[in-house]
Amino acid sequence: MTAALEGRGLRRQFGPVTAVDGVDLEIMPGEFFALLGPSGCGKTTLLRIFAGFETPDQGSVLVNGADVTALKPNRRPLNMMFQSYALFPHMTVWRNVTYGLEMERLEEAEIRKRAGETLEVTGLTDLEDRKPHELSGGQRQRVALARALVKRPKVLLLDEPLSALDRGLREQMQVELKRAQKEAGIAFVVVTHDQEEALGLADRVAVMQGGRIRQIGTPREVYDAPEDEFVAGFVGSNNILPVAVLSMEMRTRLARTLGPIESDRQIAIRPERLALVTTQPGADTLYLKIKILETVYHGADLIVAGEAGDTRRPLTVRLSAGAADRIQPKRGDDLYAVVEPIHVRVLAPDATGAGALGRDVAK
Ligand code: ATP
Repeated sequence: MTAALEGRGLRRQFGPVTAVDGVDLEIMPGEFFALLGPSGCGKTTLLRIFAGFETPDQGSVLVNGADVTALKPNRRPLNMMFQSYALFPHMTVWRNVTYGLEMERLEEAEIRKRAGETLEVTGLTDLEDRKPHELSGGQRQRVALARALVKRPKVLLLDEPLSALDRGLREQMQVELKRAQKEAGIAFVVVTHDQEEALGLADRVAVMQGGRIRQIGTPREVYDAPEDEFVAGFVGSNNILPVAVLSMEMRTRLARTLGPIESDRQIAIRPERLALVTTQPGADTLYLKIKILETVYHGADLIVAGEAGDTRRPLTVRLSAGAADRIQPKRGDDLYAVVEPIHVRVLAPDATGAGALGRDVAK
């Protein structure tokens, strides 16, 4: 299958900053794709290169297999929805949506048909006579989306589409955005620094850092199987520890499942994959000693912060309410944090040393 959108060897330099540093990317027709990364990682620049607002120093952009690198933005069969929605304030919703089609000189009947369908998909049918100031933030956001969808681009590029909305509305709009995307059958490329949004919305996610793509995969692959320390630290919370915190005996137990592990590697364990027990586990169990420093109540779960073994490395455990009731961990307790070997991820060495920076930005 030909990719709906493809970037080949893309590079863009701004003075000393390499904003996009050798990106290869294929987005398939009808796919919901997210570019995820901390501030300054180059995701907006990459999106602007796709749209044609930025010219790459190297590399090319293809839409449905055709090279569009030399084409102006309005000549490319794709559309971009900006952070600020820029609706026409004096026009009704209907006119805001049909305006672009009138500019294209489509026939009246075709305009009515397409606009009607698009307003339906975006849930705006009852609001078509209103003006933007008579709408809520979420409704205005949907008008902007309708305006982009109605032109039936092959690919729609969206820069932080939900960042202007408050939390509750954002969650609702995520569901609507995904539904509208699947119904319209258009490939979406969303830029976001919000990992929950990326994991919740996208069919596939590219995690970016320092102008490069660190990992591409389904949300589950990126979350469960991060390839390096940056991805492990940026996507969700994670305990990242040197293999050396494990005793030789524990390393042997881990190696039975994962194979031999080089001693200079880091491992990652999700807080929700650790369980706490009060008595020392048996010979076949993989565990770390933990001294409890603090517990933080979250209603549905309890975050337990402690130190691993005798190393004083921070170790966080997330207990469900049920498990928290049974164990009742308290500050000062010496307990055991148990993990299934398959939930220990051995990370590739971080050649850039940027993992720690990424974690700081993510918090
Ligand atoms: P954010 O989430 O903060 O928008 P981003 O991941 O979208 O960040 P970009 O806007 O692509 O990042 O910027 C990547 C790098 O390139 C940053 O260091 C930024 O300062 C730099 N940069 C972007 N545009 C320009 C420009 N026009 N001139 C100079 N430097 C730029």
